Amino acid sequence: MVDDTGALPARTDFSEWYNEVLWRAEIMDVRYPVKGLYVWYPFGFGIRKRTYALLRELLDRDHEETLFPLLIPEQEFMKEAEHIKGFEDEVYWVTHGGLSPLDVKLALRPTSETAIYPMYSLWIRSHADLPLKLYQVVNTFRYETKHTRPLIRLREITSFKEAHTVHATWEEAAAQVEDAVDRYREFYDRLGIPVLVSRRPDWDKFPGADYTIAVDCVMPDGRTLQIGTVHHLGDHFSKTFSITYEDRDGEQRLAHQTCYGISERCIAALISVHGDDRGLVLPPEVAPVQAVVVPIIVGKRGDEVLAAARRLADDLASAGIRVKLDDRDLRPGAKFYHWEMRGVPVRLELGPRDLDGGVATAVLRTGGPKTTVPLASAADGVRDLLVSAMQALAENAADQLAGQVRTAGSMPELAAALDGGVAVVSWCGEHACADRIEEETGGAVLGVEVRSDLVVPCEGACVACGRAGTTALIGRSY
Ligand code: ZN
Repeated sequence: MVDDTGALPARTDFSEWYNEVLWRAEIMDVRYPVKGLYVWYPFGFGIRKRTYALLRELLDRDHEETLFPLLIPEQEFMKEAEHIKGFEDEVYWVTHGGLSPLDVKLALRPTSETAIYPMYSLWIRSHADLPLKLYQVVNTFRYETKHTRPLIRLREITSFKEAHTVHATWEEAAAQVEDAVDRYREFYDRLGIPVLVSRRPDWDKFPGADYTIAVDCVMPDGRTLQIGTVHHLGDHFSKTFSITYEDRDGEQRLAHQTCYGISERCIAALISVHGDDRGLVLPPEVAPVQAVVVPIIVGKRGDEVLAAARRLADDLASAGIRVKLDDRDLRPGAKFYHWEMRGVPVRLELGPRDLDGGVATAVLRTGGPKTTVPLASAADGVRDLLVSAMQALAENAADQLAGQVRTAGSMPELAAALDGGVAVVSWCGEHACADRIEEETGGAVLGVEVRSDLVVPCEGACVACGRAGTTALIGRSY
């Protein structure tokens, strides 16, 4: 589909590398003729499908999946004042049906609180209806005016997983926030992506929330990417949308809510955190192809080798391994390049000498020396290699992040730390100091109450004003 011959830019030139790997590995096609809208290639969609299957698996433990309409009537959308203020610059409006102007304008959802909560008001009657935990995976629309970028900053977010929960009390909603954060950590853990979790400053919380906990990863260039948020909504929306329940004593009470989301930025993180100079490196669980079999046909034994390669691929497929036999009429080197670019975790080479030894030669995408897999028990051998590949990938990513987090005790140290990473500082909590940090270093206060083994508490003098402060995470973000 794509002629991907030619060298990939080095990943140290991250922006170029990212743009090139997206089409060379057949993730996204950027040639769709509307700004900020991109097309999933089938291979990229295969990664997306498996990544979201994992997310669904984690949520389905105690949530239910649902699907709400894309269009939101203007009067519902405009009900919650803070919420509108946060989104009014970004909303697409449907104003006509055919040639006739609509009586009520319809918003294309930028997020679904105002689509879902009027229905919650009808559905929730009594304490027995609580807690309610629903989620959906949908597209949302935002009129981004900043520079758009595939999978990262979009006008159509194609893969927004949004959960919306309702609880009897504020405390129960707070416990749900913690539960959601744990679920997101587990999700990224399964993808081998180490994350930094923190509470966003008040001015950076979700419009209409009591507070926001965010999940960030650090990209190879040191900039952070927000790849998940969890919001405690208090009773702001339940007041606005009359979401009440009858408690055990027959009293009507306002419900308390949370919402939390992950978008296809999780795929951007997957590509960027694990990729290398040769292309994608995928966790086996979400790799569309887990093992590729490349017959090495030299001399007269071509038919014999090809037949054995076919048997090997069949054996792996019937053991449930996603395998591809590459029997195209190409040089082996060109095939290696092709599958390395697409992040296939295990490559099996089979030539006459391997055949005589009753083995296939195995190469892991994560590196290391070549090994062999006995043909008689190939599926077991490949399964073990997939486990090793996942371990190596997670360790590499953890080492990478460890090298990107630095503690800074002064503004010059902070500026230096932000070149290529994030910084941990002491900050007094004042907005003015956050502004000064941003002006002088280009870094923003990402959050406080930082949760990561890599972050050592930093309780000294505020890096900007010298007054007493507490640990804060500073980064330049996408
Ligand atoms: Zn300060």
